[in-house]
Amino acid sequence: MVFRSALWDSYGLSKYELGAGSFNEDSRGRWYVNIAVKVEVEEKRVPDGSDVIGIDLGLKTLATYSDGEKFEPKRFYRESEQALGIAQRANKKRRVKAIHAKIANQRKDAIHKETSALVKRHAGIFVGNVNAKALAKTSMAKSVHDAAWTTFRTQLKYKAIRQCVVFAEVNEAYSTQTCSCCGVISASSPKGRADLGIRQWTCCSCGSVHDRDTNAARNIARLGLQALAGGISGG
Ligand SMILES: [Zn+2]
Repeated sequence: MVFRSALWDSYGLSKYELGAGSFNEDSRGRWYVNIAVKVEVEEKRVPDGSDVIGIDLGLKTLATYSDGEKFEPKRFYRESEQALGIAQRANKKRRVKAIHAKIANQRKDAIHKETSALVKRHAGIFVGNVNAKALAKTSMAKSVHDAAWTTFRTQLKYKAIRQCVVFAEVNEAYSTQTCSCCGVISASSPKGRADLGIRQWTCCSCGSVHDRDTNAARNIARLGLQALAGGISGG
């Protein structure tokens, strides 16, 4: 097969047992081959709380972590987006198509780097089970967020399994409304979609000041740990 030597040189696939493959064409007409590989999975490490991370997927920022960090792949392809705007205004259809494909690759690459780093640094990863369809207002936003969230979650899951890291999706109902410091569903907390504009709030029970998404991510981490302690392990 023609692909074999090139693939093996760049990815070291000779170490793996190859499974079924498939071919995909991107919007520029370039072909890619996807091949499933079998990998050995070791015993899982048991997270103790200090090495877990909770992740809140959002519309404003793709992912917000319980440690306060945020990940937004957009910042890795701002230049391409500017170029896209110029090409669109000039009505250069082939160029627009080419830049769209470039952005898709840049987004995928940024998410790959991020998910690899997350799996490397943690023993337990918990993600909210949020569904883009329920949140986004327009179908355009819906499809973009759906695609990014799915890519992010799928990559985290398979990389976690490969690295023996616990991965679980947790029910994120009330994760935005509950204070991650005192556990009270505060009257001052954001109430779902209608309050999407509220980025920061103060708990009226304990006085903690919260970043909306960081607070949600902390609740997700806590719920994930509780589920683990209860014997429901994901991945
Ligand atoms: Zn509180």
